Amino acid sequence: MSVLAIAEHRRGELRLVSLEQLAAGRDLVDDLGGELHTAVIGGDVETFGAKLNREGVDTVHTVDVGEEFNHDVYTQVVTQLAEEVEPTVLLMPNSVNGLDYAPAVANRLDRPLVTDVVGVDAEDGLTATRELYGSKVETTIDVHAEQAAVTVRPAEWPTIETDGDAAIEAFDATVDESAVRSTVKGFEEVGGGDVDITDADVLVSVGRGIEEEENLDIIYDLAAALDATVAGSRPLIDNGWLEKDRQVGQSGKVVTPDVYIAIGISGAVQHVAGMKGSETIVAINTDPNAPIFDIADYGIQDDLFEVVPALTERFR
Ligand SMILES: Cc1cc2nc3c(=O)[nH]c(=O)nc-3n(C[C@H](O)[C@H](O)[C@H](O)COP(=O)(O)OP(=O)(O)OC[C@H]3O[C@@H](n4cnc5c(N)ncnc54)[C@H](O)[C@@H]3O)c2cc1C
Repeated sequence: MSVLAIAEHRRGELRLVSLEQLAAGRDLVDDLGGELHTAVIGGDVETFGAKLNREGVDTVHTVDVGEEFNHDVYTQVVTQLAEEVEPTVLLMPNSVNGLDYAPAVANRLDRPLVTDVVGVDAEDGLTATRELYGSKVETTIDVHAEQAAVTVRPAEWPTIETDGDAAIEAFDATVDESAVRSTVKGFEEVGGGDVDITDADVLVSVGRGIEEEENLDIIYDLAAALDATVAGSRPLIDNGWLEKDRQVGQSGKVVTPDVYIAIGISGAVQHVAGMKGSETIVAINTDPNAPIFDIADYGIQDDLFEVVPALTERFR
């Protein structure tokens, strides 16, 4: 019995989901017994391998092929790793890359694949939890198979921060170059934005309560005082008041900052889906019944046009 989690990296950085998967994997190994393996494919495998050596990990496999993600290479290598490790559960990120190769790998290994999973349990056979209809409905799937593949939704598990004492082993994969039919020609950020809100420690997030584009100035002032990044709810992006890559939510980005300040945001499920994993949530809203208050750690029921400048003054 074992679990194998495939890490993800982009442009020289290990992505957080790689470490979150380890917590999911550890939960499974606690139920199943056996070992937790993780693997990194391509890029600076030595550095990534060291970062993946977290508490509870038994073996880190490093596969020194390629620099960036490639569908055909990942499909071949992950299949070979899974044939070697024979994990009961193969974990992959539910990311653009993960969703690209996971179905191909599951197909090659003849395993069922459960995607976009927010919970896993192996106490009594493998069960996986998924959220549907913008997180309004939770479903539990019983997996009737000895071995399965799962893609893990980012920001659902905490990262394991403590260093471990895993064996770090180079895995000698055989890549059949004649079967590599795609090449990566470059990397272009969609929208050409200059910020990555998923990286920010503090997010000042603004919603329709701001009323007019000109009023955004008070939000930028607060963000400057806090050294924070500005994000927003979908209506602001649809209005063209903020760039698309600043949208938080189901059709935007999933963020997990230390502090998320929701200003004039109602807390619709599609928005909450993108920020509920934030460490501390502060909500400013005039409506005491706004759903955002249900998940806020601190709530200020007041007019944002009064509260925001006062906060800015305080933090300057
Ligand atoms: C398929 C689909 C995908 C979606 N994806 C996303 C997504 O990714 N992200 C997203 O955000 N939304 C998304 N939505 C839209 C979502 O359903 C909501 O419409 C949206 O989140 C509402 O944004 P809001 O909270 O800013 O606006 P509103 O719901 O209009 O809320 C504005 C809030 O501001 C408060 N307010 C007003 N004036 C003040 C004031 N002066 N001071 C303080 N508070 C004030 C009000 O009480 C209210 O609670 C999606 C919808 C669909 C159907």
